Amino acid sequence: MIITLSADAELDRVRRELTGRGLWIASTEKSSEGTTHLVIGRESSESDPRELATIAGVRSVSATASPHPMMDAHGPEVTIGNVTISAKAPVIIAGPCSVESEAQIRRIAGLLRERRVKLLRGGAFKPRTSPYSFQGHGPEALRWLRRAADEHGMLVVTEALSEADVPAIAEHADLIQIGSRNMHNYALLKTVGRAAKAVLLKRSMAATIEEWLLAGEYLLAHGAKGIVLCERGIRSFDDSTRNLLDLGAVALLAHVKKLPVVVDPSHATGKREIVLPLAKAAIAAGAAGVMIETHDAPHDALSDGAQALAPGALSALSTWLDGSMR
Ligand code: PEP
Ligand code: MN
Repeated sequence: MIITLSADAELDRVRRELTGRGLWIASTEKSSEGTTHLVIGRESSESDPRELATIAGVRSVSATASPHPMMDAHGPEVTIGNVTISAKAPVIIAGPCSVESEAQIRRIAGLLRERRVKLLRGGAFKPRTSPYSFQGHGPEALRWLRRAADEHGMLVVTEALSEADVPAIAEHADLIQIGSRNMHNYALLKTVGRAAKAVLLKRSMAATIEEWLLAGEYLLAHGAKGIVLCERGIRSFDDSTRNLLDLGAVALLAHVKKLPVVVDPSHATGKREIVLPLAKAAIAAGAAGVMIETHDAPHDALSDGAQALAPGALSALSTWLDGSMR
């Protein structure tokens, strides 16, 4: 339920009236015209929107049957600085799976910038299936990533793995990534939401689209400044590819729900040979961009080398994107 207050409403009094009715304010949003919108958690289905509209200071009450009203109202684009993520002009997000050293990320950033890549990705905190695999260089890698991106006028995309790291991630990242394994980590979603940044929300490997949208709702309800959904493949019975790329979900989100969704064909396939064809298929399905793991020495990568492309391999995709009529 969304309650819009009149300009002279006393917020504290409205809050008391609502809590007295068993409702609570999940988040407060100020629109550019200065109107305050309260997003209300509905504790009891008894609360009658017509009765709530009689509270002094309440201008309108919009009760919606949808469990994710903020995602429904989100819109098809997210703008961060001078970059707009939109299916009208799909972006390439690229970079290594893990930030391995300052020299590595600077080298890769330079090679990617020449190929139209405006968003640099790289993991500082890595969610590895095995505790013995490389876990990332942590806070130091955040600084390397930021410096490399700044040197080339790029934006930073990096994953927040735990609540404790969110302040450091928010300081260094332009787009905070929630990884597949954490899409259901609601405590992390709330903390990342409160950082008030744009979020790249990866789909959990077994999430329905509805669960994915609700994870987005968590982020928005706690203050996130925009959600870019990221389809990265779901689990299937066949392990010929690492995951099963669900382009039907992409088309549904882009064309029916009108939301920005990017596709990660690297984690979806685990095989560098089929990353580029699926990147093009993703754009054809309505994606607002692709996220592709790139490494200047894929065979020596500390993580996910088998799916990494050399930065030069993105030239053809950039040219294709520039030429693709939308
Ligand atoms: C990643 O993008 O680095 C990553 C770990 O992906 P996912 O969460 O989709 O497995
Ligand atoms: Mn990876």
